[in-house]
Amino acid sequence: MNNIEITIPKTLQEALELISGGNEGIGIIAGGTDVVAGMRQGSNRFGGINQLVDVNHIKEMKGITGAGGIVTIGAAETFSGIISNKIIRKELPLLAKACGTIGSVQIRNRATIAGNFVNNAPCADTVPVLLAYDSTIEIKSLAGKRELPLAEFLKAPYRTQLNSDEIVTSIKVPLPKGDFKGDFYKLGRRRAVAISRITLALLIEIKESRINRLRIASGAVTPIGTRFNGIEKEFEGKTADEKTLKAIASRLGERVIEVTGLRWSSEYKLPVVQQICYQMLYSAVYGGGK
Ligand SMILES: Cc1cc2nc3c(=O)[nH]c(=O)nc-3n(C[C@H](O)[C@H](O)[C@H](O)COP(=O)(O)OP(=O)(O)OC[C@H]3O[C@@H](n4cnc5c(N)ncnc54)[C@H](O)[C@@H]3O)c2cc1C
Repeated sequence: MNNIEITIPKTLQEALELISGGNEGIGIIAGGTDVVAGMRQGSNRFGGINQLVDVNHIKEMKGITGAGGIVTIGAAETFSGIISNKIIRKELPLLAKACGTIGSVQIRNRATIAGNFVNNAPCADTVPVLLAYDSTIEIKSLAGKRELPLAEFLKAPYRTQLNSDEIVTSIKVPLPKGDFKGDFYKLGRRRAVAISRITLALLIEIKESRINRLRIASGAVTPIGTRFNGIEKEFEGKTADEKTLKAIASRLGERVIEVTGLRWSSEYKLPVVQQICYQMLYSAVYGGGK
């Protein structure tokens, strides 16, 4: 790695001033688990950087609060902080589960939630869950503040809407109202410290034996985390029986292929995505495993 100057601002204002000059050599570092690994590997995403602004000591970007039906997570909150938070465990269990699958304890103690979706690797494990929960992110610059849905923020693999003078300050997750059941599933090549090959996050609400609301989001198996609004609309209102659940799973497989195109791995991934989706739906609707 080249010599890098690290600046540690104590306030958000200070950090925003540091990155405001249009200097392309300045980057942001939080936990550093993507930045440092990327720099060591010579990734051109971090190639021109000679100064890093460390956002870990900015109080406004830490902590988790709940008010008015919205949970606000500081952008620099670590996965360990999220997993151990009572509100998250009770109200947003899919997020707690996804964070618990990330890396190892050492990684979870350092890595932050914003780092995960700003890096926007296809395999970023919090993304499908945050999409299923309809999360919004707050971004600040010296010019002011903007909020946008995470689904809009993510543009392409390793690319987002973030401008060079902006910092993500928090993630706002509305508590799902109603009787949602659901799960997060991660498939990797091994059981621990695994890079995801397929992730799915799913929430379903049944009313009078019909699907009232459905939310499905994928990661890793699609180029970026993707919410399947079309499938959700198609099946809302349908009878929640095994035939419908199989049809949802089948449609998801078709959509994944439409998004990714046929690849050498499709023959394996398609039936696996469909089976995982069906099992998750079955457990959510009927309880237990399938
Ligand atoms: C051994 C190992 C295992 C891993 N396992 C997993 C895994 O299982 N699942 C998974 O999803 N990921 C995994 N990762 C990747 C990584 O840990 C996560 O993506 C993590 O969330 C990155 O967070 P960070 O705070 O370390 O980000 P950093 O490396 O500090 O930053 C990542 C990117 O986000 C930007 N950034 C960070 N915070 C902000 C902010 N507040 N505002 C604007 N930009 C910001 C940085 O400029 C940089 O571009 C692993 C990494 C390692 C090294």
